[in-house]
Amino acid sequence: MLDIKDVLLTENRKSSYRTVMERSVLSYRSGDFPVEGHPVIEVAVENMGGQKLHLSGCAAPVVSIPCARCLKPVSYRLDIRFDFEIGPDETTYIDGYYLDVDQLIHDEALLVWPERVLCRKDCRGLCSICGHDRNDGPCGCEHTQADPRMAKILDIFNNFKEV
Ligand SMILES: [Zn+2]
Ligand SMILES: [Zn+2]
Repeated sequence: MLDIKDVLLTENRKSSYRTVMERSVLSYRSGDFPVEGHPVIEVAVENMGGQKLHLSGCAAPVVSIPCARCLKPVSYRLDIRFDFEIGPDETTYIDGYYLDVDQLIHDEALLVWPERVLCRKDCRGLCSICGHDRNDGPCGCEHTQADPRMAKILDIFNNFKEV
């Protein structure tokens, strides 16, 4: 929580703050994602009058996200930038004289969340049969996935039969 009393009580005042994220985990419906260290949060708060506040700033937390194929944790840097106004009815981020910067970053992180993260571009993933990490070598399971080239040959073969 960031003390912004100074700005809250003075119309047209703008202050810039540099603080750190206290939360060590970002929790969403999709899961819990550990945050590495205490990322710096830069935030500027401007009192626009009429109990309106303008918030802007940035943070670049490194979050641990499982690889979409093999589930190994991958360190991923989220590039968060925010710039918006909140009104007097806003209660998500303002609590008394404090700005809940962690909650703000938590919400903004979702907006820049990657669709999927891979530990490396050619990650081979887990075996669908035994769960073995195929990056560590073959597991010996029979994978009867049709070879696309073979499928083509079979097509030609079937066409011949119909003639
Ligand atoms: Zn992977
Ligand atoms: Zn296997």
